[in-house]
Amino acid sequence: MKHDFRELANHSIRHLTPYQPGKPIEEVERELGISSSIKLASNENPLGTSEHVLKSVQQALCNAHIYPDGGQYELKQALSNYLSVSPAQITVGNGSENILELIVKAYLHLNDSAVISEFAFLTIELLIRASGATLKVARATQWGHNIDNMINAVDDKTRVLFLVNPNNPTGTYTNQADFEKLLNSIPSHIIIVVDEAYSEYIDKPDYPKTFSYLANYPNLVITRTFSKVYGLAALRLGYAVSSLEIADILNRARLPFNVNSIVAKAGCAALQDQEHVAKSVALNHQGMQQLEEGLRQQGRDFIPSIGNFITIDVGHGNEVYQQLLLEGVIVRPLQAYNMPRHIRVTVGTHEQNERFLNALKRVMECKLNNI
Ligand SMILES: *Cc1c(COP(=O)(O)O)cnc(C)c1O
Repeated sequence: MKHDFRELANHSIRHLTPYQPGKPIEEVERELGISSSIKLASNENPLGTSEHVLKSVQQALCNAHIYPDGGQYELKQALSNYLSVSPAQITVGNGSENILELIVKAYLHLNDSAVISEFAFLTIELLIRASGATLKVARATQWGHNIDNMINAVDDKTRVLFLVNPNNPTGTYTNQADFEKLLNSIPSHIIIVVDEAYSEYIDKPDYPKTFSYLANYPNLVITRTFSKVYGLAALRLGYAVSSLEIADILNRARLPFNVNSIVAKAGCAALQDQEHVAKSVALNHQGMQQLEEGLRQQGRDFIPSIGNFITIDVGHGNEVYQQLLLEGVIVRPLQAYNMPRHIRVTVGTHEQNERFLNALKRVMECKLNNI
């Protein structure tokens, strides 16, 4: 008898649409037969990984045959010192997506619901769908999270609410007043997860300092990553900071060796090299100004962003994305987010930003001439 192993899979998994990551440079060049392309599609650090981290990685490789420390003592100490929180409040993961997965695994059942904003980071929606829980999407306002709509989306079955701050792909953020309103408006048994993947880039005085609320809000979980400003996206390292109780549960939910020893060493070294972080943040700041100015000159609408990426209205995102590929510039189309007019572009080096702006100009002029 012939079985259809698609039909035999769990219902919640069978109909998932896989997350579409940024297209790798090698793939684009192979398919189009071009070279020297640039990737501005995944919000990676254009300065790369710090030298200090690379040295520590090479050293750590000598012990590649030894299992990692399951408790990640050294890494948690380093994070604890850096963040001024107890090591017991920390959960580490194979990227922060792993942490988000642990939260879903530990706190969401089939009959529960989880709240997220429209246009929010799609990985979270996928995780919720995969769990079989009900997804409650709160309408956004001008592309950003609308806190009132999020509060109103909460129902009897809601166990977790996800706030992506700043949000990817829109670059919009929730300010301190709205964040406090959220904390104080939803029932205290509901877990509030704040995804702060880009927090290191931000210098807005009204961006909430979430760590200061941990003591009074045991339902708060903050997730962060080494993939963005720390330049370790390939190695996979993220962490959560929460109350002791939630950290205890997340640490039970994880697999024993979910963080490998190479990236654990890299993480410690990365925290030591704050100079590299400062340099990356400064470069991003300049690059963002350069892109905004260039886009204004070209008369392009964009969503003001506080992250290391910017989302631009180009009329027909997918078409412009394809044309940019031919120019050797990889960006991110956003139909999967129901934003078919937009593309998302990572802030690169000065030269990369220049190249993107010139390519965009050519592509848009070309489109006009074809109409
Ligand atoms: C990039 C990103 C992450 C990071 O994921 P990792 O698994 O740590 O690489 C998490 N959340 C958002 C919103 C992101 O944009």
